[in-house]
Amino acid sequence: VVKRNGKDADGDRIMMLGNEAIARGAIEAGVQFAAAYPGTPATDILETLAGFSKEHKFHAEWSVNEKVAFEKAMGVSLLNLRAIISMKHAGMNWIADPLSVSVLGGTRGGLVIVTADDPNCHSSANEQDNRFYGMFFKIPVLEPSDPQEAKEMTREAFELSERISLPVILRSVTRVSHSRGDVLMGEITQKARKRVAFEEDPARFYLTTSRSLSRHFWLIQQQEAIKKEVESSPFNQLAHQGEKTVLFTSGIAYTYVKEAIKLLNPTEKVGILKIGIVYPLPALHVKKVLEKVDLVLVVEEGDPFMEMNLKAIASELEKPPRILGKMSGHVRYGGELTIDSVIESISDLLHLSFPTQKNQKNIQEAEKLIPPRTTTFCAGCPHSATFYVLSKIQKDMAKKMKQKVVFLGDIGCYSMGNQPPYKIGDVKYSMGAGIGVAEGIAEFSDHKVIALIGDGTFYHAGFPGLLNAVYNGSNLTLVILDNSITAMTGMQPTPGTGMTAMGVKTTTVRMEEIIKGCGVEYLEVVDSFDIKRLEEKILDSFEHRGVSVVIARNLCAIELKRELQKAGKKPAVYRVNKDLCKKCLLCLKSFSCPAISQSADTILIDESLCLGCGVCQKVCPSEAIELSG
Ligand code: SF4
Ligand code: SF4
Repeated sequence: VVKRNGKDADGDRIMMLGNEAIARGAIEAGVQFAAAYPGTPATDILETLAGFSKEHKFHAEWSVNEKVAFEKAMGVSLLNLRAIISMKHAGMNWIADPLSVSVLGGTRGGLVIVTADDPNCHSSANEQDNRFYGMFFKIPVLEPSDPQEAKEMTREAFELSERISLPVILRSVTRVSHSRGDVLMGEITQKARKRVAFEEDPARFYLTTSRSLSRHFWLIQQQEAIKKEVESSPFNQLAHQGEKTVLFTSGIAYTYVKEAIKLLNPTEKVGILKIGIVYPLPALHVKKVLEKVDLVLVVEEGDPFMEMNLKAIASELEKPPRILGKMSGHVRYGGELTIDSVIESISDLLHLSFPTQKNQKNIQEAEKLIPPRTTTFCAGCPHSATFYVLSKIQKDMAKKMKQKVVFLGDIGCYSMGNQPPYKIGDVKYSMGAGIGVAEGIAEFSDHKVIALIGDGTFYHAGFPGLLNAVYNGSNLTLVILDNSITAMTGMQPTPGTGMTAMGVKTTTVRMEEIIKGCGVEYLEVVDSFDIKRLEEKILDSFEHRGVSVVIARNLCAIELKRELQKAGKKPAVYRVNKDLCKKCLLCLKSFSCPAISQSADTILIDESLCLGCGVCQKVCPSEAIELSG
């Protein structure tokens, strides 16, 4: 968090996460509105901001999705107040539509868009370099390399946004957002939230065809102001000492380059040129450097974004240097950079030998010592019970009716249902996409089609798909796995939780009413742990022509554990009666609960993990599982 041991004054030093540093930068800049939709690796930015919102008198919220977060932030900016929104890289795809038009009108108060990209897909369904969005919409992109810079750049991004009247993108990546560093605190510019009148300017903000066109000319002209800003930015470190070979780098890649050069200690002098504002590049400065060098290696995280832009700048030179990078195969492309991969790129370039293979061998040796672990549902997870039912239906349908059930997955903890023992899930793309894909498959096949979605994802992106399915007469079943929280990103509330990001009680939005409002006729709400009834209702839904919805509802196990702890209560736990157990292993092989294990020929329940959901008791055909004590 921002405040540690009561220290958060100007001049204090605090060890903090990159994401916390971004939040601190926004607070120092006097932010008045912050919004986000949870998504790793960006979640902690809004969590930190929400935690300090009362103290520093600004509004923070978990929005229903990134698009709404951005639109609300735009409204705040139009009142000449400062706003920040943060999201994982995929969120940018959601805001692309309103961003594309609103840049034509521009901003009033500073508006900062933080995107935390996830190279290597640590917690994402794709790799995506959002620096391209800056180029696409003609707005600047800042890229910090460590937590200190993340704070400074966030603070500066508000100022820059106000000077150029446009939103500014701050691009982080997992290794910046989630690393800790020593951060020097700056002064907090605390501005009380105030109510201000909206100043009319329809020629700027009511964007219709001819106005949009004239505002596009404004945006093009505005690029000159942006270029001037970039040329004088202190975040670009382009001091060139006459070296013939230079490494152009930015963001987290800069830290790898610095370390690689320290380790390689080359005899040939190599220049390190660091770009802080990666779009647009400071073309005048860059040209001056390119004119004097022979060889450039571009080391950057993500796609060859700077490499392409550098090549465009170099094409205007009479004698351009050789520019190498990801496009030429000299830097790892796909996945994320590592110190080893950067050492390899630089040592190849300089014809040095450095035993990175030894590091790799050590890593392989260490990996052998670590027991293999896969992601798994928690003990007492309601989703595990639902997947047990779904896999039973899948097997029964295949066996008795020779019919395949097609399962469309979505984004959330329940995407783990695709793993053994359940193996439920044929297709999974992006937020809310499962319902639409289900509609396509249902339209032209005779398969039974089940779309799966969690409660957070349903509110974020699910119900337009549901509405479309009802409106266009699809024949499918939607199973909503409702654990009443956004669990995968760390227990953020949803519109169904009845609590805001700032801890204020609010209206609980009932998904049943949305579903009925969409015109769904078959709607059943079942306790996820009542596996018999859940199976019956899903099978019943197959008899209903049209869209059927079954909500499998019970609280996330982690949240339940927290609630029990708060109340000073313990769950009623289960044990295996050795005399009755026939060692059929159904509780281990058809069902997954980390509290259940096998030791020699005994099945055991770890009572310190058991949350007392009782599903294993229902799964056991020999009545060998019973309440303990
Ligand atoms: S399902 Fe029941 S009988 Fe089979 S191994 Fe587990 S506890 Fe024993
Ligand atoms: S009751 Fe059974 S399934 Fe539920 S948490 Fe305990 S061991 Fe796991």
